[in-house]
Amino acid sequence: NEHIASLDPDVAAVLDGELERQRDYLEMIASENFVPRAVLEAQGSVLTNKYAEGYPGRRYYGGCEEVDKVEALAIERAKSLFDADYANVQPHSGAQANAAVYHALVKPGDTVMGLELAHGGHLTHGMKINFSGKNYNMVAYGLDPETYRINMDLVREKALETRPKMIIAGWSAYPRHLDFQAFRDIADEVGAYLWTDMAHFAGLAAAGLHPNPVPYADVVSTTIHKTLGGPRSGMLLSRDAATFGRKLNSAVFPGQQGGPLMHVVAAKAVALKLAAGEGFKDRQRRTVEGANILAERLTNQDVRDAGVSLVTGGTDVHLVLVDLRDSPMDGQQAEDLLHDVGITVNRNAVPWDPRPAAVTSGLRIGTPALATRGFGAAEFTEVADVIATALVDGKNANVDALAARIHKLTEKFPLYEGLNQTGAA
Ligand code: PLP
Repeated sequence: NEHIASLDPDVAAVLDGELERQRDYLEMIASENFVPRAVLEAQGSVLTNKYAEGYPGRRYYGGCEEVDKVEALAIERAKSLFDADYANVQPHSGAQANAAVYHALVKPGDTVMGLELAHGGHLTHGMKINFSGKNYNMVAYGLDPETYRINMDLVREKALETRPKMIIAGWSAYPRHLDFQAFRDIADEVGAYLWTDMAHFAGLAAAGLHPNPVPYADVVSTTIHKTLGGPRSGMLLSRDAATFGRKLNSAVFPGQQGGPLMHVVAAKAVALKLAAGEGFKDRQRRTVEGANILAERLTNQDVRDAGVSLVTGGTDVHLVLVDLRDSPMDGQQAEDLLHDVGITVNRNAVPWDPRPAAVTSGLRIGTPALATRGFGAAEFTEVADVIATALVDGKNANVDALAARIHKLTEKFPLYEGLNQTGAA
């Protein structure tokens, strides 16, 4: 019954150090968020001890009466939140959920079409050394070279040319809404399944701030930990349980996974309950508002004069993609500079990026975690100005002055107040 602080001080020091880091920096990695205490409690619970292979009421282990209840709750809440006919809350992660989609709907060697990785697609949408690229004949649609947006005429052309068995609508780095009806029409025209990976925008969709893909796609996959703000994990949804339910269930277990992580399933149930509430809607509204404030400031004249622009010139979602191709600073240098100022972001290749992938010519900057921290228009305006000033001044930036402005914000919005993860003094 010893606490981690005395039992394993080395690991305890990491937990304490990470809590401090999260408090001291402004988190603007677009795929990150802060879970509520209730989610930490569920995830740090005794449910981690339980094997529960199978599904509620149909398990391969005894003693599942309690975990059955929590998985049933998570399923019902997921279906209700996204108006779905089917949900599977067992995928350990977004990538696992996606692996199950392939496993359920296509065979190795089949043609699958997704957004080009270098234009904002995800590794599981066809990267060469990912399981998707190795096992399937992956073809890609790219962005329109004029607008940098997904052009549905080009998507249709590619689909007619390559005749995919499945089409993926989804992205990891793309700042605009998707036209799900147009994707549906193309899928129907070529006889393909339509799969939407809403990992990034699930929270926005849950709050009604982004079209909900569930009525259009055959299958929808998502992570729970990005805009949705829950535990690190994944989930599958469908509008049609009769057609896809059994296939997807068997693809997750036993197709891809063994025992579900029941502590994480419980944490998902909590997060999905919170996502149906008014507080969550307000948070998502501030998330999108913050991204718009960022987009406005980062397209001002001083920023443009420094050779910095935004991919598509703005945003509809929770992130902006900064284009540094005409800036003397590369993505790595910009990421490091913002880190010195107290802001955490990730460098990200932009479409047609001339710099190597390890360095890139872009930054992906997101607002979900700061909206969760409590930021509204005033704070996002201040952060946007700090970022703009840093990017304009580059290596001449007054890092101390900018860091002081960020420090004021972290002080004003304390994170996990009173939380002590390790019991250490
Ligand atoms: N799908 C998309 C669109 C993503 O952006 C991500 C995460 O980056 C994933 C899937 C994979 O999620 P995970 O990291 O949980 O495997």
